[in-house]
Amino acid sequence: MADPKGFLNTPRREWPRRPVPERAGDWDEVYVPGALLPIIGEQADRCMDCGVPFCHEACPLGNLIPEWNDLVARDDWRAASDRLHATNNFPEFTGRLCPAPCEAGCVLAINQPAVTIKNVECAVADRAWEEGFTPPRPPERLSGRTVAVIGSGPAGLAAAQQLTRAGHTVVVYERDDRLGGLMRYGIPAFKMEKRHLERRLEQMRAEGTRFRTNTAVGRDIGADRLRARHDAVVIATGATAWRELDVPGRELTGVRQAMEYLPLANRVCEGDIEVSPMSAAGHHVVIVGGGDTGADCLGTAVREGAASVTQLDIYGRPGAERDEDSEPWPTYPKIYRMSAAHEEAGELRTAPAADADARLFAASTLRLVGDGQGHVRELHLTEVDARRRPLPDRERTLPADLVLLALGFSGPDRGDGLVDGLGLELAPRGTIVRGPHFETGVPGVFAAGDAGRGQSLIVWAIAEGRAVAAAVDRYLTGGSRLPAPIGPYDRPMAV
Ligand SMILES: Cc1cc2nc3c(=O)[nH]c(=O)nc-3n(C[C@H](O)[C@H](O)[C@H](O)COP(=O)(O)OP(=O)(O)OC[C@H]3O[C@@H](n4cnc5c(N)ncnc54)[C@H](O)[C@@H]3O)c2cc1C
Ligand code: SF4
Repeated sequence: MADPKGFLNTPRREWPRRPVPERAGDWDEVYVPGALLPIIGEQADRCMDCGVPFCHEACPLGNLIPEWNDLVARDDWRAASDRLHATNNFPEFTGRLCPAPCEAGCVLAINQPAVTIKNVECAVADRAWEEGFTPPRPPERLSGRTVAVIGSGPAGLAAAQQLTRAGHTVVVYERDDRLGGLMRYGIPAFKMEKRHLERRLEQMRAEGTRFRTNTAVGRDIGADRLRARHDAVVIATGATAWRELDVPGRELTGVRQAMEYLPLANRVCEGDIEVSPMSAAGHHVVIVGGGDTGADCLGTAVREGAASVTQLDIYGRPGAERDEDSEPWPTYPKIYRMSAAHEEAGELRTAPAADADARLFAASTLRLVGDGQGHVRELHLTEVDARRRPLPDRERTLPADLVLLALGFSGPDRGDGLVDGLGLELAPRGTIVRGPHFETGVPGVFAAGDAGRGQSLIVWAIAEGRAVAAAVDRYLTGGSRLPAPIGPYDRPMAV
């Protein structure tokens, strides 16, 4: 804390976003390039260096937040980068994509706007790359042990980097043609440009991690064969089995899953195709599901030039402030949040008719109606109460010729035969059952990330990857100095 009165003298300022009409016309990140660095020193100096920093507890990685805030305020970027990378393999991902539960737990947030922790993290990570503070760190000695990591999302990549640096020979198997998991084909480039991913992958290759794309384990290579070939296996295949909408009309064409739609838009950005075959251009789009995936569909449909876009949320509109009884500080509260995509939809007035906001809350879909030729034309919905019971006389109809389902995910996809091939036990909600050290019921096979935890966040996936690496290292060598920030049963702070 360079200035003990920092938070008294400096108001919170966030990394400004580009004007809506400009950013809605391209796929680049929404932020003003170069506008973070000039403000970040003062923002870091708002940190009070609390005796008990609750932000540590709120961050699943246990990021050393007050330490790097202080180093940034003192302009010591190299040391800040060292402290940040001590707990986080990929801070440029979390600095852009994390919903920042740390900021909800910031002590300043009790009665003031929180420190802009996520922005500081992003600035340190970006500066570290610019200044060359993050060279590849290949191991000094090889252990002679090999590990297969299945899945290249944040959990698989974090596990692979930790295990490679510990001296094991790691091969990452990925069924897609490119690496990155949901960060590659789920999350749109306007939230994080893919160059950040490429840079880390290059670093990992230089450290010795090997990658095999276009290889679905269970289908292209037998899971038991892979197990026999390696000393240990980490399953980090995510939770991509999507939930369905069980209403009349679901079978109509034009009704698609969010994760069918978003990868195609990402492929346009990658240069694989010129136009998405599912493009929203000129269509009335309704997104069913009020979460982040739905918001990503919203931002994508806006950029594709939809005629109108509406996002339906079954939950009621949250309040502007946290409910101190049910969600007291330092928990992460459900409040009305305005993502970049919501801001765009609001300003561009993408909602049909008289709706001011592109989001309709407490809205439950009743049925989808076609045009007589098998294509969806309308979505009928009703307003519901807090227990999701329809309210009388609150039905309405939205024009809809593209309906996107963003209803969440139930667990790992079983289509490739990996889960059944290894005979893994699944929990009732579809996730892979694990013991206290991330081990499955099959000796030498571990599970990490959304595959074991269920649908979660990138910060949790990285924490799982780091922790499973420590468990595998211990399994292979009898001990480990790798950090394990979480256990498999840890959950976000709650009352
Ligand atoms: C659209 C969308 C937007 C999101 N936005 C955010 C956000 O902004 N911030 C945030 O924190 N979180 C976000 N999330 C959640 C976050 O992306 C996930 O929690 C995180 O990616 C999980 O990481 P993972 O490594 O466990 O799995 P994943 O990222 O799902 O990666 C799993 C990988 O395993 C591969 N795979 C699966 N089966 C096999 C097999 N048999 N053989 C080989 N490979 C296989 C898959 O192809 C995939 O590449 C979002 C999720 C979605 C769907
Ligand atoms: S990873 Fe997320 S929770 Fe942790 S410090 Fe960064 S923004 Fe905060």
